Amino acid sequence: MIEDFAHAWRLYRAAETRLPTPPPRHTLPATGLATGLREILAQGLHDAVILDAWGVLNLGDAPIPAARDAFAALRASGLAVRVLSNDAGSDPEQSSARHTRRGFAVAPEEIVFGLDLLAPTLAELGVAAEDCVLVSPRPAPRAAITAPMLDLDDPRAMDAAAIAFLSTVGYTEATDARLRALLRHRPRPVLVCNPDIVSPEPEGIAIEPGFHAHRLAAELGCAPTFLGKPFPGVYAAVMRTLPGVPAARVLCVGDTPHTDVLGGAVAGMDTLLVQSGFLRGRSGAEISALCAEAGMAPTYLAPHL
Ligand SMILES: [Mg+2]
Repeated sequence: MIEDFAHAWRLYRAAETRLPTPPPRHTLPATGLATGLREILAQGLHDAVILDAWGVLNLGDAPIPAARDAFAALRASGLAVRVLSNDAGSDPEQSSARHTRRGFAVAPEEIVFGLDLLAPTLAELGVAAEDCVLVSPRPAPRAAITAPMLDLDDPRAMDAAAIAFLSTVGYTEATDARLRALLRHRPRPVLVCNPDIVSPEPEGIAIEPGFHAHRLAAELGCAPTFLGKPFPGVYAAVMRTLPGVPAARVLCVGDTPHTDVLGGAVAGMDTLLVQSGFLRGRSGAEISALCAEAGMAPTYLAPHL
């Protein structure tokens, strides 16, 4: 359903009214073009590096080869490393095992997900898991909270207090129709644990929960609550795991401007935008122009990690 990069970019631009506002744009500095992470680390400006995974470390199940050496150099630097992911289909242990198998040894405690905010957000809303509808294949991650949730086709779903949207795996026209019927019957919080609109696949571009959430928002007037990047809550969560580190001494690496650059910039961090994922095949000049038209400027731009 996503035709090409230009289509995906238009979708992100159209969603900007529901995304955080970028901080005042600064000109891409002359030093902003980097060959990769090692060159940036050599400047000694950072105490911690937050890595996006998909499009930075891997594309599909395949590791991005150049990222392995950069990751090894990052580990050798001794800086704190976190992976900040919008993946809402894995538990930290599964994700850690996958990254490690691909050549990126990351401990479960070093991974922060938007999905981590689901339980506290439901608690804030006063909604029990048993009164929340789950949009995800089963078994879903975070079983303690997702296992008791209602399936979309459960008769009790019609009046459930909230909807947790984790994954588009298995999402069909029928899923979409049922979700719309629920929201027309009774507006209620929709917690979107993966705000990404698209994700780059080894071949083509896939649709993620953010795609449907923004469409529902535009067409039904509902206001989804986004729990992952680029929204501030998940950055506060990752910073709680980095006590004593100021945001200005954090480098945030990612492949998607409206996810990784926007979120990192709003959180007051430096950002490294890599061309190995969503932006593959685009020139540096084209990427700078695209970011500028969206009011964003990554601190650094590099071909890969
Ligand atoms: Mg990514």
